[in-house]
Amino acid sequence: MSIEDDVRAPARVLVVGASASGLTTVEALRRKGYAGPITVLGDEPHAPYDRPPLSKQVLSGAWEPERATLRPQDALSALDAEFVLGDPAVGLDPASRTVRTASGRALRADAVVIATGVRARRLPGQENLAGVHVLRSLDDALVLRADLLAGTRLVVVGEGVLGSEIAATARTLGLDVTLTGPLTAPMAMQVGPLVSGVLADLHTERGVTLRLGTGVVGLTADEGRVTGVRLATDEVLPADVVVVAIGASPATRWLTDSGLELDNGVVCDSRCRAEEGIYAVGDVARWHHEGLGRLIRLENRTNATEQAMAVAGAILGEDRPYTPVPYFWTDQYDAKLQVHGFLPADAEVDVVEGDLTARRFVARYRSGGRVTGVLGWNMPKQARMRRQEIVDDLAAPAPTH
Ligand SMILES: Cc1cc2nc3c(=O)[nH]c(=O)nc-3n(C[C@H](O)[C@H](O)[C@H](O)COP(=O)(O)OP(=O)(O)OC[C@H]3O[C@@H](n4cnc5c(N)ncnc54)[C@H](O)[C@@H]3O)c2cc1C
Repeated sequence: MSIEDDVRAPARVLVVGASASGLTTVEALRRKGYAGPITVLGDEPHAPYDRPPLSKQVLSGAWEPERATLRPQDALSALDAEFVLGDPAVGLDPASRTVRTASGRALRADAVVIATGVRARRLPGQENLAGVHVLRSLDDALVLRADLLAGTRLVVVGEGVLGSEIAATARTLGLDVTLTGPLTAPMAMQVGPLVSGVLADLHTERGVTLRLGTGVVGLTADEGRVTGVRLATDEVLPADVVVVAIGASPATRWLTDSGLELDNGVVCDSRCRAEEGIYAVGDVARWHHEGLGRLIRLENRTNATEQAMAVAGAILGEDRPYTPVPYFWTDQYDAKLQVHGFLPADAEVDVVEGDLTARRFVARYRSGGRVTGVLGWNMPKQARMRRQEIVDDLAAPAPTH
């Protein structure tokens, strides 16, 4: 029996969000043999593009923006999907699986995939000031790059992964860069004190001023243009360009009246299903991870791909829980970090290969008697080889002590 004859295959699929997870869902559906009509609805005017290069190669100018495009036009055409771009979804009726758009379209489908990602958080009042940026989209990256090329003093608000990457890229462009945020080292939340200490040294050596461990209370401005960032200590960090990288919120406002459960993302079961015939994928999805026994939501590029493949399978009737070992990477200067699994704040961390001072090492994170994560610093292969330890521990029953 072909997928077309399979009673479980939906007659029509609608994917809302035309980016990494949305596009991969379509590709996986076609690879698995689904031949029915597919519509992809996106609010951005661009063909699907990749976000990781935006804070790295696109921002630095090493790549022309077109290089971030995910697929050439002929590969998109070969998918035989209808792309409706530049038209945001504004509502969903789950009973009829109909999505309404800002321009007045009503798109009905038998399976709807929510792939709308996240939106950058902002500081109150920042929209009204020139020189203040967030970085989520290609357009954000191009406007920020133009401002960096014209500017001299950048303050990055937010010491997480994105803020740290932007600080690194801006330094390589020659700006005077200050990184500020409430934690005491770059990426302290994501990688813990040991590795974030090494990152702090790296940024300092490269000339970034770290003004960490204190909150930001607002921005200062003159005639509509930002002039600085005010800290909780009342100190003002002068700036002609500011990037606000304080995290992101799931793009679910358009679902407010849908009746779907929304709680830090679209809440889904272990099959990434929010309701019968409605799925969520990528950064916006918060699903029940059976290996962990709880809801999780991941904001990383590999999950966008892997979860999309799982959702395509679920749409076509495969009955398997989605239980990935999370993975993300970050590039800052010549440091390439790969993180497999979870790095909880209370974890014990050992360097199991390489050398911290040489900045080439693998660190293993243990918590509650289990290996929960592995981090590689310029040792991608060695880190990947230790991933199995996390898989084994995820599959094992929880220790009783
Ligand atoms: C600058 C940057 C650098 C990154 N670097 C890394 C990295 O080094 N490593 C890593 O692992 N991950 C990285 N990430 C994260 C990674 O890019 C994301 O996890 C990935 O893009 C998620 O894909 P997605 O398709 O779920 O969401 P998104 O890529 O956010 O796509 C969602 C799409 O839906 C659209 N949309 C939103 N609302 C609506 C609506 N109402 N109607 C229609 N369309 C809508 C959005 O505009 C967007 O086009 C980075 C992200 C950014 C922003």
